[in-house]
Amino acid sequence: MSEPFLPFTRPTLDEETLAGVVDVLRSGWITSGPRVAELEGALVSRFGNDRRVLCYAHATGALEESLRATGVGPGDEVIVPAMTFAASANVVVRVGATPVFVDVGLASRNLTASAVAAALSPRTRVIMPVHFSGLPVDLEALHALARRHHLIVVEDAAHAIGARYRGREIGSFGDLVCFSFHANKNMTTIEGAAISLPAGQSEWVDRLERLRFHGLRKAEDGSYDVELAAGKHNLSDVAARVGLGQLKHLDEFNRRRRELAGHYFDRLGTNPWGLVLPERGDEGHAWHMFTVLVPFETRGFGRRQLQERMREQGIGIGMHYPALPPLTLYRSLCDWHPGQFPNAERIGRETITLPLFPAMTEAEVDRVCRVLGEVLGGGGA
Ligand SMILES: *Cc1c(COP(=O)(O)O)cnc(C)c1O
Repeated sequence: MSEPFLPFTRPTLDEETLAGVVDVLRSGWITSGPRVAELEGALVSRFGNDRRVLCYAHATGALEESLRATGVGPGDEVIVPAMTFAASANVVVRVGATPVFVDVGLASRNLTASAVAAALSPRTRVIMPVHFSGLPVDLEALHALARRHHLIVVEDAAHAIGARYRGREIGSFGDLVCFSFHANKNMTTIEGAAISLPAGQSEWVDRLERLRFHGLRKAEDGSYDVELAAGKHNLSDVAARVGLGQLKHLDEFNRRRRELAGHYFDRLGTNPWGLVLPERGDEGHAWHMFTVLVPFETRGFGRRQLQERMREQGIGIGMHYPALPPLTLYRSLCDWHPGQFPNAERIGRETITLPLFPAMTEAEVDRVCRVLGEVLGGGGA
C-alpha cells in the first residue's frame, strides 16, 4: 500500500496549541483555573453577552446535568430523536425520566416540529433535538412549539459547534445548548464540553455550577457548604488550552469541512448505486460528518464487508449510528416493533460515514469516491 491510511476523522492540532499545552503543564496549575475561564469567555464573545457558558468534562455530563438543572426527573418525558448517539437518550434514563423517540428525516437525520408535536403528552417536559452532523434542526418551529406547551429545549449540539441557523450561531440563543469537544468533534479539548444558556437564567446557572463540582457553594470567608450530592464534571486547564487553540481555527475548520462536503456532492451527486446523500443545508451547516446510505440489499454484501474492503484499500469508514429504539435498553421503553421508526431504522441499517476532516484534500475525497465505487461494483440495482 503506497498511500497512507485515511481515517474517517482526525483532529488538527497546530504547534502553537502544543506549545501552549506545555506552558500550562509547566505553570503549576493544570486543572480547572484561568484557561477554563478564558475558554468560557471566548465562547461568550462568540455567542453574545446575554449568554453564560459553562465548560464541562464531557457533553454526556453536560446534557445529564442540564436536564437535572431544569428539574427533570421521574415521571417526566423527554423527546429524543430515534437516530442519534446513545448518550442523548441515556442521560434521560439516568435522571429517572423516560425518553420518547421520534423519527427523523431520511436525508436530514433531524427530527421535525410536527413529529415532536405528535409525540407530546401531559408528561413531556423537555425537547432534546440533535443537530445531526452539524445541520441545524428547524429551531424556530421547535421553539414555537415549546413555548405553546411550556417546554424547555435542551439542544444536543455535540455536532454543531460553529453551525448557524438562519444566520444565527447555534449557542447564541435558546434555552440550554450542549456542545461536545470530544476528539472527533469539530473542535476538541480531547474530552470536554460547554453549555450555553441565557445569562438571565440565574437559577439554571447556579444549579449547573453546583452540579459541576460536588454541590459545593463557597462563602466569602473561603468556607463552603454542600447543598446536593452532585458529581464532578469540571474541565482541566490543560484541556481548555487545547480548546483555545482549536477555537481560533474553528471557522476555518468548518469552512474547509463545507468545501470537502461540496466535493463529495460533486463526485457522488449522480451515482449508479442509489446512494442517498445527506441533506445539503446552507452555509450554516457545520459538516461534522458526511454520511451516506448504501442500499446493501442490491449489492449482495453488508456494511461489515464494505468496511473491510475499504480498509484493505487504506480507507477507514465509520457508522453513525444504529437506530436507538431497537437497542436492548430502549426496546421495552417504547414497545418497539420493526417499522415503528422507518427512517431511523433504515439509516441505522444502511449508513456509512466517509472520511471528512479539515486536513483532508480534494484528492483524498476523489480517492475515497473511486475506492467506494470499485468496492460497490457494477452500477445499477
Ligand atoms: C459525541 C456525542 C455526545 C457525547 O459527547 P461527549 O463529549 O463524548 O460526552 C452526545 N451526543 C451526540 C449526538 C454525540 O455525537
